[in-house]
Amino acid sequence: MEKATRQHTKDHNRALVLSTIFANSQISRAEIARITKLTRTTVSSIVSDIIAEGLVEEVGVGTSYGGKNPILLSLVEDSRWMIGLDLSHSQFRGAIVNLRGVIRDVISIPVEGYDGNEALELLYRIVDQLMQKVTRPLLGIGVGTPGLVNTQEGIIINAVNLNWQNLPLTNLLEERYNTPVYVLNDSQAAAIGEKTFGEGYSPEESMVLINIRRGIGAGIVIKGSLFQGDGGCAGEIGHIVVVKEGGELCRCGNHGCLETVASAQALIKKARAGIRDFPESALPHEPKQIDLPAIKEAFDAGDSFAQKLVLDTAEYIGIVIASIVGVLNIQKIVLLGDMTCFGEKWLNAIHDSAQKYSLQKPMLNTKIEIGQLGENSIILGATAILATDYSLLFSQS
Ligand SMILES: [Zn+2]
Repeated sequence: MEKATRQHTKDHNRALVLSTIFANSQISRAEIARITKLTRTTVSSIVSDIIAEGLVEEVGVGTSYGGKNPILLSLVEDSRWMIGLDLSHSQFRGAIVNLRGVIRDVISIPVEGYDGNEALELLYRIVDQLMQKVTRPLLGIGVGTPGLVNTQEGIIINAVNLNWQNLPLTNLLEERYNTPVYVLNDSQAAAIGEKTFGEGYSPEESMVLINIRRGIGAGIVIKGSLFQGDGGCAGEIGHIVVVKEGGELCRCGNHGCLETVASAQALIKKARAGIRDFPESALPHEPKQIDLPAIKEAFDAGDSFAQKLVLDTAEYIGIVIASIVGVLNIQKIVLLGDMTCFGEKWLNAIHDSAQKYSLQKPMLNTKIEIGQLGENSIILGATAILATDYSLLFSQS
């Protein structure tokens, strides 16, 4: 028991030192001791261990504030690699990522028309190819997938577009590749990605990332940690009902969900259905030819039909943001996904709507912005989970 406690303290201190080194591009032992409140002797001993593991190196001499000049330490960013997978698009993307979130290699394979086992085979094909290119110690594989995920057990409960139900993806990948695997929902992964590798986030920050593409989901980070809810489904905001009467049927079986009025899919559907009534619109008059790029072009050109459609979607997003802010009072809302192509105007309309539907006080300091990492946020978030599980950085002990 005592031994277990000692090991626990050792692991905890090591994680503290590592997270401090991760958070700084260069840092001295004395500065680490000051930040972590550990003794200099403890810090020195931990630093020797992690230098021996090749994770950290001495990179030069810093400025002295009395006494001799301190030696600066820095993370060796390519000392470990990870494989990250993003399964949320019409193509699967896999990448080799280093400890600083720099992508070293990417492979993507179109998945449209494939589901079930065939989709799983495509996933294996990507990982097989990436594995050939891994030349550094591998920490593991992180997967961001659409749908409901039981993260603890690594099971995809339901991913409709891929036709996966109760798929034990973590087990399947761990057995095949013999490396740790972490599977989480794509929006949750994106939230972790933005928070870990985006600029200007403090470790204890809270944020909600809203991912708006075919479907709509959110990742909630509270005081630096992912909040998944009691059943792992936190952030399923796409199925909040926002149209009470006469709403469209949603793929979940309900009517009037946020997804049916504010997703990219819903926007395209509305444009196709309405184009006949707007002969003066700049959109293609053949409904089938209307896609997101066409709507974007008409929107940017000031076409009133396209503007109305897009700004209507923004109003609904704003209504749901007002609810989120009302419940959680989280002051940073980050938007991601295809719909962000509508830029400032869409963003401003969301902001106006959120303001209109919420109390003044909680909205006052709330920032709504477009994410920094774009389409890489899911891959980077899925791997960030591995990179910040400091126990994985050590082969033994
Ligand atoms: Zn729904």
